Amino acid sequence: KERTLAIIKPDGLLGNYTDKIKNVIVEAGFIIFKEITLQLDKDGVSSFYAEHSSKSFFHSLIKYMTSGPVLVMILEKENAIADWRALIGPTDARKAKITHPHSIRAMCGVDSERNCVHGSDSPQSAQREISFFFLEKSAG
Ligand code: ATP
Repeated sequence: KERTLAIIKPDGLLGNYTDKIKNVIVEAGFIIFKEITLQLDKDGVSSFYAEHSSKSFFHSLIKYMTSGPVLVMILEKENAIADWRALIGPTDARKAKITHPHSIRAMCGVDSERNCVHGSDSPQSAQREISFFFLEKSAG
């Protein structure tokens, strides 16, 4: 089985979408292998999103991701990485509402920044991101 890292971002938690999102996760056949709720700080977010450090939206992204607690989960199932990306939908939640109306970002996201959830985009990122939060390596 494959593992991926999922995050319910501050807008998801504050908007009370946690239970709805978890239902979608379980109904899609994922096992929530581990979960932790935590408040990220500026250094943590900067390091997690280091690849975006030169982007114009980086400062805003840090403010958003530190605006409240996040729920970080390791999800497990066959093809977990691609399946979770498919389930969350495109980055821009406004676009998701049109092209992927049943996606999680269509359900609870607002725009290209406040898109409610995160998902690892490759086996390499899944391993890095799982280690980042849980100090262990992903399977597979
Ligand atoms: P994530 O990595 O969080 O799953 P993603 O892979 O769909 O999202 P990335 O391009 O990696 O999107 O961007 C990381 C995050 O930065 C996005 O989820 C979003 O919160 C924010 N972001 C991306 N693009 C923009 C943008 N154009 N304007 C504002 N914020 C953005």
